[in-house]
Amino acid sequence: LHGTEASAQKEDSRFKGHDMLAPFTAGWQTTDVSPLIIERSEGSYVYDINGRKYLDSLAGLWCTSLGITICTNTNSCSAYIEKFSFSKLVKARLEFVGGNEPRLVEAATKQLNVLPFYHSFWNRTTRPSLELAKELLEMFTARKMGKVFFTNSGSEANDTQVKLVWYYNNALGRPDKKKFIARSKAYHGSTLISASLTGLPAMHQKFDIPAPFVLHTDCPHYWRYHLPGETEEEFSTRLAKNLEDLILKEGPETIAAFIAEPVMGAGGVIPPPATYFEKIQPVLKKYDILFIADEVICAFGRLGTMFGCDKYNIKPDLVSLAKALSSGYMAIGAVLVSPEISDVIHSQSNKLGSFAHGFTYSGHPVSCAVAIETLKIYKERNIVEQVNSISSRFQDGLKAYSDSPIVGEIRGTGLILSTEFADNKSPNDPFPPEWGVGAYFGAECQENGMLVRVAGDTIMMSPPFIISPREVDELISIYGEALKATE
Ligand code: PLP
Repeated sequence: LHGTEASAQKEDSRFKGHDMLAPFTAGWQTTDVSPLIIERSEGSYVYDINGRKYLDSLAGLWCTSLGITICTNTNSCSAYIEKFSFSKLVKARLEFVGGNEPRLVEAATKQLNVLPFYHSFWNRTTRPSLELAKELLEMFTARKMGKVFFTNSGSEANDTQVKLVWYYNNALGRPDKKKFIARSKAYHGSTLISASLTGLPAMHQKFDIPAPFVLHTDCPHYWRYHLPGETEEEFSTRLAKNLEDLILKEGPETIAAFIAEPVMGAGGVIPPPATYFEKIQPVLKKYDILFIADEVICAFGRLGTMFGCDKYNIKPDLVSLAKALSSGYMAIGAVLVSPEISDVIHSQSNKLGSFAHGFTYSGHPVSCAVAIETLKIYKERNIVEQVNSISSRFQDGLKAYSDSPIVGEIRGTGLILSTEFADNKSPNDPFPPEWGVGAYFGAECQENGMLVRVAGDTIMMSPPFIISPREVDELISIYGEALKATE
């Protein structure tokens, strides 16, 4: 730890005007103000270099699902240790420190000592990548999947999806079936192709994207887009009809795939309206269009089911995973591929000599070792049950603020939620952007010891799966205070 206030201040000024071209950061932020420098974490909390503690309501970037919640008294600590049967070494550490998930630290360290790296090209590979692939195929039960392709991130997973689908359609002799349909406000990543799939204008402006093969259909946000008197079900019917109209306009023979997050994340946490996926899926089936489920945020318990597909009865052809796959401890992503697609790829690659796609770190053994241990912990601790046991406290506690005059909508499910500020509680009456309502609320939270995600006047939260009832109460209390100050 950086001991004195003085040394921390020194570091602060050294990094003002720092050397990083920082992701999703405006130029003035890196020159005019010091960055918030996070130095260490403990369970649901992070600490900055000045030793200030923050409840991390977004779990890093929707990813750090596991950690150890600090035990405030010895009895509850022992019960916790007993329940999760930690090793002796871990027990000793836990009783005094708490903090990050020791089993994941152990898994990484062990793998680093044995084999820090080997690749998975040319049929050479490592045991952790093979074991993780097997485990993922067993865990995903919404439908049977055939193969797993490893990436380093969610963006690479979605880029890989596009290449897989093109390769598949080329192999089937359908060279024209190449277009993708994504949704407005979707977030699918930041690389050229995944940012094209993304439906957020800020991600396209000045980057010469989206690519012409990407089309965008309606955002399924009922509160914002429903017509007067329209029920959720009717709204879903209209959106499914609009999707079909778009497919017919473009020509079904040109549309390869549709990509969707089960609950939209970075676009503002938008759960689907009633019957949405029920109505979308038959339209895709009718025109032989593949369904790609982008589960990068939703998978592994976030929504109160192991996968978002389980919650909404989605039967995908391809699935993208990342983030909670390793609890964010190591960079890893994965694509699950249906047997129908993987069989075609298999025979095509036989003809061509190889499936010429991959990354140096596809199936990185340390990332895979950490992911294997993460999945083991999810199972042992019944993470889905754990999320369900805490999620109503989180959802109900925050939604109780829906009556605030500056709140338009509070929405969410499981351990994911957003608040959209609006005047007159109406989506048609946004506050003037120069008022900076969302930014003010976010700064109030930070001042009071909590980090939230701010996107304009929408505030997003997705706390770690291990958040305790006491921490949820603290989160709600800081939220309430910030709301009062913002009103
Ligand atoms: N897909 C979804 C749904 C995401 O939320 C994200 C990131 O937030 C991505 C893809 C991109 O993942 P990454 O940032 O790991 O490239």
